[in-house]
Amino acid sequence: MVRDEEDINIYEIETNDKIDKKKKILIILIIIALILIIIVGKNIVTIIKGNKQCEIYEKQVAKILEEEQKKKDEEERKRQEKLPKLTEVGMQNIEKIYKSETKRAFLTFDDGPTDITPRILDILKQENIKATFFVLGSNVKKKPELVKRMYDEGHFIANHGYSHVYSNIYSSPQAVLDEFNSCNEEVKKAIRRK
Ligand SMILES: [Zn+2]
Repeated sequence: MVRDEEDINIYEIETNDKIDKKKKILIILIIIALILIIIVGKNIVTIIKGNKQCEIYEKQVAKILEEEQKKKDEEERKRQEKLPKLTEVGMQNIEKIYKSETKRAFLTFDDGPTDITPRILDILKQENIKATFFVLGSNVKKKPELVKRMYDEGHFIANHGYSHVYSNIYSSPQAVLDEFNSCNEEVKKAIRRK
């Protein structure tokens, strides 16, 4: 009888040990789960914060771009305002350009800009006359500030190719296009200067 009781006690102690072990494992699992929840939670918070910051930056950038565009539009409007407007008489003159009794000359300058271009621009400004400049891309690259001045002062800028080397220009149809496009690119760069 005593032996049996001892057996039961041992069994109970063993069972209690097993329960303790299970509890320990459960507690450890809960702790691990909590740690994981904290880590994941923190990451989620960081991502949300990051997204919000991103949105704020995007809005700021959009605002800056919008303001820059407004400034550019305003500058262009002011530039246009300074240019002579085509009047009704002007329109009629253009329509009758080859039949008109009135004698008129159109000033055009080829191959520029060169060292004498500033002098020409000064005189045109003094006389309040607009001219057409057939510019060479290779020269625009050398003196972009003069092309910018032509543009700002309301003159017409026309494409006269890039190199002026006929043997190159007329070597193929593609070469002609390349000359035209290269000159265009240089003019664009020049008139976008500040
Ligand atoms: Zn020429």
